[in-house]
Amino acid sequence: MPLPKAELHLHIEGTLEPELAFELAARNGVELPYADTEELRKAYDFEDLQSFLNLYYELMAVLRTERDFEDLANAYLARAAAQGVRHAEIFFDPQAHLARGVGMGTVVEGLWRALGESEARHGVSTQLIMCFLRDESAESALETLEAAKPYLDRIVGVGLDSAEVGHPPVKFREVYEAAAALGLRRVAHAGEEGPPEYITEALDVLGVERIDHGLRCMEDAALVERLVRERIPLTLCPLSNVRLRTVDVLADHPLPAMLDAGLLCTVNSDDPAYFGGYVGDNFDAVRSALGLEEERLRELARNSFVASFLEHDEERRARYLAEVEAYRF
Ligand SMILES: [Zn+2]
Repeated sequence: MPLPKAELHLHIEGTLEPELAFELAARNGVELPYADTEELRKAYDFEDLQSFLNLYYELMAVLRTERDFEDLANAYLARAAAQGVRHAEIFFDPQAHLARGVGMGTVVEGLWRALGESEARHGVSTQLIMCFLRDESAESALETLEAAKPYLDRIVGVGLDSAEVGHPPVKFREVYEAAAALGLRRVAHAGEEGPPEYITEALDVLGVERIDHGLRCMEDAALVERLVRERIPLTLCPLSNVRLRTVDVLADHPLPAMLDAGLLCTVNSDDPAYFGGYVGDNFDAVRSALGLEEERLRELARNSFVASFLEHDEERRARYLAEVEAYRF
C-alpha cells in the first residue's frame, strides 16, 4: 500500500496520456500529426519548456466535449488513487479551451462528472482550482473569472500558471482582488523560473496562501525565513524541475535543504503525462535520488494534508493525517 498523500499541484490537461489522446482524437474526428501512440510518446520526450508547451497546447485539440473532460479526469484519478492519493486539488486552464471554442460549462461540468463521483469510485476527495495563463492579458483573466461565475460552486480557488518570466504577479492584482471578493482561495506559480521577488509579490500583492513551485526562494534567506515563519506551503514538483531544466539532475534538487530550513514543502507531479511520472513516482524518485529517510517522506505526506484546502472539513483532514501517522513503510 502506498503512502497516503494529497496532490496539490496537478494540471489536469497535463495528465493526457498518448493512448487517451488517440482515443479522443478518433472520437472527435481530430487529426493528430503522429502515426501512432509510440510516435507520440517520443514527442513527449521534449527538449525544453517551449517544446513542452507546444505539444501541450497542440494535444488539447482532442478535448471537445464534457465526456472528454470526464474521461481525462477519471483516468487521472484512477492513476492517482493507485499511487496513494487520498485528496487532489486539481488545476485547469480554461483560457486554453475558450480560445478554441470550448466553453467554460463544457470544461467545468465535464470535469465535475468525474470529480463528483471520485470519492465513491476512486476513494479520492477533490477540489477544482481555475488557473489564469500569465502570458495572456490581465483583461483576459478578468473575462475568464466572469465566465466562471455560474460555476463557482464547483471551484474552490484560482491560480496562475504558464510561462513565468516577464509576467510578474502584479499584472494580475485586479483579478485576484475580484477572486478574493468572491470568496475564492488563491495560489500562484512563482519562483520556478522567475526570481524570488515574484514569490514576495504573489504573497503581498495577490494575497496567495500557497506558492506553486517556489524553488528559487532558496536564493533569498530573508524570504525563506518569512515563508517558514508564516507557514506558507510550497508545492514542489521534482520530476518536472528536471524535465524543464530548473535543476540539472534530481540529485541536485534543493528539497532536502528546503526541509532542513523548515519550509512546508509538498511533492507533486505538475504535468505527469509529460514529466515522467505521477505523484507516487515523484516520491519514489526523490527517495532514491536524494536518499530521503522514511520520516522525511512521512513529513512530506503530512505537509500535503496540512497545506490542502480542507478547512471546510477538518474531520476529514484529521482522518487523512491519522492515516499518514499510522502508515508503515
Ligand atoms: Zn504547474
